[in-house]
Amino acid sequence: MDPSKIKPIQNFLCRIIDDDIKNHYLENRIWSGTPGDAIFQESANKIDPAKIRTRFPPEPNGYLHIGHAKSICLNFGLAEQYNGSCHLRFDDTNPTKEEQEYVDSIINAVEWLGFSFIENDKRNLYFASDYFDYMYDFARALIISENAYVDEQTSEQIKNTRGSLTETGINSPWRNRPYKESLELFENMKNGRYKDGQLVLRAKIDMASPNINMRDPVMYRIKHVPHHRTSNKWCIYPMYNWAHPIEDALEGITHSICTLEFEDIRPLYDWFLSKLKELGKLREPLPKQYEFAKLKLSHVVTSKRKLLQLVKEGFVEGWDDPRMPTLLGLKRRGYTPNSIKLFCNKISVSKSESIIDYSLLEQSLREDLDPIAPRAICIIDPIKLIITNYPDNIKENCYAPINPHDKEAGTRELIFEKEIWIERDDFQEIPYEKYYRLFPGNIVRLKYAYIIKCTGFLKNEKGEVIEVYAEYIHDTKSGSPGSNKIKVKNTITWLSTSQTQSVVVNLYDRLFVDPEPDSGNKDFLKLINKNSKKTTKALLEPNCFIRNTTNWQFERLGYFALDYKESQNNCYVLNRVVTLKDSWSI
Ligand code: ATP
Ligand code: MG
Repeated sequence: MDPSKIKPIQNFLCRIIDDDIKNHYLENRIWSGTPGDAIFQESANKIDPAKIRTRFPPEPNGYLHIGHAKSICLNFGLAEQYNGSCHLRFDDTNPTKEEQEYVDSIINAVEWLGFSFIENDKRNLYFASDYFDYMYDFARALIISENAYVDEQTSEQIKNTRGSLTETGINSPWRNRPYKESLELFENMKNGRYKDGQLVLRAKIDMASPNINMRDPVMYRIKHVPHHRTSNKWCIYPMYNWAHPIEDALEGITHSICTLEFEDIRPLYDWFLSKLKELGKLREPLPKQYEFAKLKLSHVVTSKRKLLQLVKEGFVEGWDDPRMPTLLGLKRRGYTPNSIKLFCNKISVSKSESIIDYSLLEQSLREDLDPIAPRAICIIDPIKLIITNYPDNIKENCYAPINPHDKEAGTRELIFEKEIWIERDDFQEIPYEKYYRLFPGNIVRLKYAYIIKCTGFLKNEKGEVIEVYAEYIHDTKSGSPGSNKIKVKNTITWLSTSQTQSVVVNLYDRLFVDPEPDSGNKDFLKLINKNSKKTTKALLEPNCFIRNTTNWQFERLGYFALDYKESQNNCYVLNRVVTLKDSWSI
C-alpha cells in the first residue's frame, strides 16, 4: 500500500497542538540546533524552524515492542504532520540496566519503521547522560535557592515518613539545614565520598501535599556503578522525575507525550521546570507533558521482564522469534513497517485503557499487502492428481495475475500437465456436509486452468489415499471463450509436478491461548500455546524468488514472508504472517 495513503493522526493531542498554534503559543521559540540551557540557546538566538518538537525517549534496557511502536508513531507522526521535529532520545540515567546493544537495536527499529530524526543533515539523536553536567548544575541552583537539600535518612526512613493517601508526610530532620551544608555534601556525594544509599538529594516542596509525588521527592541517589557511556565519571545518578523534564527542556521539546502512569507526576514535572525558569536556567515556553493510554494488545505480553523470561526460559527462540511482539519478531514474521503504522493509526490515542484485539494488527498487514504483494501458489500438504485423459507429453501454459489489483504487475505462467499436485484436504473420499471440493463424481475448477471431474483414487496398504484421478473437460480453460459454460461450486489450486520449488514453511498460531495472559493473578507461562509453531515442507510455484519482494500472498493460504535468518543459499524458509481471513473472530 502506498504509505501516503495512511491517514493523518486525529486525536486529542492534535486538538491541543491546533490550539497552541492558533494561540501563537509556540511561535518565536528559540533553538540553536543543539540541546542546552537558556544561556546557551540565547547565545545562538535562532528561531526554531520546527513548528513543534516531540521526542521518543526509550530506556536502552530492552528491545522495543508493539507498544513502543504506538509511542513512536504518535511522536514521529505528530511531528511529521505539523512540520515539526521528533527527537530520538535515550533515557539512559540508570546505569545498572542499560547497554549499547539495546541502543543499536532501538535506532534500527525506529529507522525500520521509516521515521527520521534527521533535521538539516543533523541527527536529533540524544542521550540523557550527555546532560548530566547540566542536571548537576541545575541541582546546585535548587540547593542554593533553598529548593533542595541533602538528606541523611536511610531509604527506609524516607519511605516511612512519606505518609499515605490519608496521612501527611513528616519533615526530614535535615530539611532545614543551611544550604551551604547541602551544597558541600552534594559535592562530596559527587566526588565519591559516600557509600551507595548513604545520602540523597531531595527537592524541598511540601510533605503535606495531597500528591505524594510532591512530598520532597528524591532527585539524586548514589550509585557506584559505571555507566555505559559516562563510564566512571559519575557515582550519583538523577532520578527519572528530575531528569526527564530537564531532558525535554534542554532539547526544546514542546509536547512531551508519555503514558498515563505519569499523570500524577505532571505537577512535579511542572514544578521543577518553573523553578529552573525562575532561576534563569531555562526559558519559556517550557515543555508541557501530556499523557495517553498504553497499548494493550490481546494474546501477548509486553512487559520487558516477561518477554525476557520467555526468551531466557526457552519458550521462544529469541527476541526476534516470529511469535514475539517485539519489533524484531514482527519484522522477522513478515510484518511490514506500513502495516504497523496503519495499525497504530487505527488504534485510538486516548486517555482510556482498552485491550486491542490482535486481529486488528493482522488486518492491517492484509490491508497493506493486498494491493501490492505478488501472488503465488504453494501446496503445503500435496497429493498427486492424475488427469487420465490428458496427453502424456504435453505441457500447456496457464496465466495468472501477479496481483489482481494491479494490472500493470503483469502475469505469471503456470505449467499444466498430466500429473499435478493438489492440497490433500482438497480431496475427500466421502464428502462431508457442504464439502464442494474434489470427491468422486464431483467437478471443480483448477484455478487458471481446466474444469475437472474426479473419477477415482488409489489407496496404499495402510488405507491412505495416495493418488487421485480426474478427467479434464475440453474447452473450459480459464480465459478461453465459453470456459464458464459449466458452473462449478469450487476452485482449487494446483502445481505441476515437474516444476516446483521445495521450501519450508512455518505456520504460526497465537503464542498464548488466553487473550489476556498476564491479567489478574494469571501465570502467563502456564498459558502458552504449545502448538504455536508448525514447521513443514511445502511446494512452491517456480520463479517466486526472482521477483523483487520478500512478501507474497500464497493463494488461499495467507501472507508469507521470507525468513531472512533461517533461509540459506537455496533453502528458503517462509513464515506465514497471517491467514487470508480472520479465523479468530469467527
Ligand atoms: P519499562 O517500564 O519496563 O522500562 P517501558 O515500556 O516504559 O518499559 P521505555 O523504554 O521507558 O520502556 O519506553 C519508551 C517509551 O515508550 C515511553 O515513552 C513509554 O511511555 C512508551 N511506551 C512503552 N510501552 C508502551 C505501550 N504499551 N504503549 C504505548 N507506549 C508505550
Ligand atoms: Mg519506562
